[in-house]
Amino acid sequence: LVSRQTKSEDTIIRVKNAVFGGGSHVLIAGPCSVESREQLRAMAAAMKSVGVGIMRGGAFKPRTSPYDFQGLGLEGLKMLKEVADEYDMVTISEIMTPSQLESAAEYIDIIQIGARNMQNYDLLKAVGQTNMPVLLKRGIAATLDEFVLAAEYIMASGNEQVLLIERGIRTYEKWTRNTLDISAVPLLKQETHLPVLVDVSHSTGRKDILLPCAKAALAAGADGIMVETHPNPQAALSDAAQQINIDEFYSFWGGLRGSGLYK
Ligand code: PEP
Ligand code: MN
Repeated sequence: LVSRQTKSEDTIIRVKNAVFGGGSHVLIAGPCSVESREQLRAMAAAMKSVGVGIMRGGAFKPRTSPYDFQGLGLEGLKMLKEVADEYDMVTISEIMTPSQLESAAEYIDIIQIGARNMQNYDLLKAVGQTNMPVLLKRGIAATLDEFVLAAEYIMASGNEQVLLIERGIRTYEKWTRNTLDISAVPLLKQETHLPVLVDVSHSTGRKDILLPCAKAALAAGADGIMVETHPNPQAALSDAAQQINIDEFYSFWGGLRGSGLYK
């Protein structure tokens, strides 16, 4: 079902006034984790002031250590919805279990399946049984075959609104958090009809090469970019090192638009 051979035209996914796929680009920004209303409001105001209307923010966080901040859970999703309603934004947030899905659905617009859960088949089937758009992240060590088959699980359960996002894979390279597999972009565009996005934050894990990586992604045919942004990254409860502040976000966004690659 994901294959271009089955459906030759691009799948276009519309969520409120956001359009994924079909030739136009999207920028998704927002914090790694939802931390407070004030944090979300500061970020939402900055984003809206420059016309960016799709906000990410994790509330159920898949942390490597059980002792790290695990997210605000449903309370966090309620905050995200409250602020998104105030600022008229489209929201994306991760869920990790089928049981979270039911309660989460009314608070968010797009469900994120994180890299660690790309092969959680019960979860894939559960989101496949909803009619909500799903942002599926590539697994930490997933081949493209495994990635598209994970998308196939969602589609085979009846949900055609799947967005693919490359977020870097684990290699021996240590200068970046993961290795951004730019070749995944044209390959996924060629082999599937689904929108393909690139998460420049989790793939690189660093702030200084976000813009060139985002440009490379668009040049390679990506339908959009995700970047982690926080009003005060040093104080962030997760991924503090890779999140950019509001001024850095403005210059990233300006650079991307100024490149002429962003349509
Ligand atoms: C995230 O986007 O917050 C996240 C945890 O990313 P990933 O699943 O790609 O590691
Ligand atoms: Mn993160």
